[in-house]
Amino acid sequence: MTRKDTKLVEGGRHPREQFGAVNTPVYRASTILFPDTETLLNESQAYTYGRRATPSTRALEEAICDLEGGARTALTPSGLSACTLAILAACSAGDHLLITDSAYGPTRHFVEGTLKRFGIEAEFFAPNIANVEKLFRANTKAVFLESPGSQTFEVQDVPSIAAAARAKNIAVILDNTWATPLFFDAFGKGADLSVLAVTKYIGGHADVNAGAITANAAFTERLVTTHGEIGLTLAGDEAFLALRGLRTMAVRLKRHQETAMALARWLQSRPEVARVLYPALETDPGHAIWKRDFTGASGLFGVVLKPASDKAVAAMLDGLKLFGMGYSWGGYESLIIPARFGRTHKTFKPEGPVLRIHAGLEDVEDLKADLAAGLERLGKTA
Ligand SMILES: *Cc1c(COP(=O)(O)O)cnc(C)c1O
Repeated sequence: MTRKDTKLVEGGRHPREQFGAVNTPVYRASTILFPDTETLLNESQAYTYGRRATPSTRALEEAICDLEGGARTALTPSGLSACTLAILAACSAGDHLLITDSAYGPTRHFVEGTLKRFGIEAEFFAPNIANVEKLFRANTKAVFLESPGSQTFEVQDVPSIAAAARAKNIAVILDNTWATPLFFDAFGKGADLSVLAVTKYIGGHADVNAGAITANAAFTERLVTTHGEIGLTLAGDEAFLALRGLRTMAVRLKRHQETAMALARWLQSRPEVARVLYPALETDPGHAIWKRDFTGASGLFGVVLKPASDKAVAAMLDGLKLFGMGYSWGGYESLIIPARFGRTHKTFKPEGPVLRIHAGLEDVEDLKADLAAGLERLGKTA
C-alpha cells in the first residue's frame, strides 16, 4: 500500500492514455460519439456522455477515492452541493436526520429549508454530545457530522457517534473539509459518506468551486443513483484545477499548519484576546479527541476577542494589508472574517466578538505584524 503523500502524486494519473502527458488534459465534452449502434445501445465504451464523466473528471474522482480509501467518489459543482447530495442520498421523505449544531451555515439552511419541504425532519444536537443514541428515533436515517465544526471549531467524537449509529443502521455522513483525508481518516473512523469542499484545500488557490462525496461499498449505489438522477456534474476545467491543486496539498497543508499554530500561540499571548479556537492547542477543549483521532491540523481557526465594539472590530479588520476579507478558505492566501453562526444549543458562549482566520502561505512574521497593527487599532477604538 502506498502512503497518502504518494497517492496525492500518483492518484488518477494515466500518462500512457494521454500520449505521455503527465497531467490529464482538460476535456471539454458534452457529446461523446459512439462508433456503431451496438456500442451505443449497450453503452459499452468507457465514456458515454459528458455529464456522466470525461477523462478529466474521472481522474479527479479516482484520485480522491484513492486518497479517502472509499469505494466510489462522485463530483459536484460546489462543496455545498456535495453536502446536500450526501443527505439526499441517505434520507427519504418521513425520515429524521440528526445534524451537529456546528455545521457549516449553508448546510444548516438547506436542512431547515429545502429538506423540510420534502418531508425530512432535521434535529440539531450539541457537538460535544455524550450519548447521541438518546436522540435516535425509529425513523432516524442519518447523522451528519462536521469535525471540527464551522466557525466554533468544536471537535466531535466521530468514532463513538459512528459506532452508536452503525448499531442502529443509521448512516454517518461526515463533512471532512477542515482536516482533509490527509489529517482525518473518515472511513477508518466510521463514516459511510465523506464530503469534501474541494474548493478549499484540494483546489488550494481560490479559483475553483467543486465538491466530492465518497461512499463506502454499502452506500455506493445510493450515491451513484442519486447523483446521476439529480444531474450534477463538474466541468473539465474545474476538475483540472482541482487535480492540479491536489498534487501539492501535502506540502501546502504542512505549511498552513505550522503558520496557524504559530499565529494561534502568538494570539493567545495578546491582551486583546480571550481565547483561541484551534484543536491543536493543548488548551483547546477538543484537544484530547483531536490528538487521538487526527494526524494534523489545517490552517483555519477562530479567535474570541475580549468584549469590543463593532466599530473597534471594523477598525482592526479594515486596515489589514495581508489578510483579505472574503468567504471560503484553503487557498494560498490569508483571510479573516467576523464569524457568524446560528445555534440551537447554547453550548458555545463567546466572551466577545469571534473572528475566523485562515493562515496562508505568507511569511509568518509578516502576518503577525499585520495582526499586531490591527489589534493596536482595535484597542484604540471605543
Ligand atoms: C466551504 C465549505 C463548504 C462548501 O463549499 P462551497 O464550494 O463553498 O460550496 C462545505 N463545508 C464546509 C465545512 C466548508 O467550509
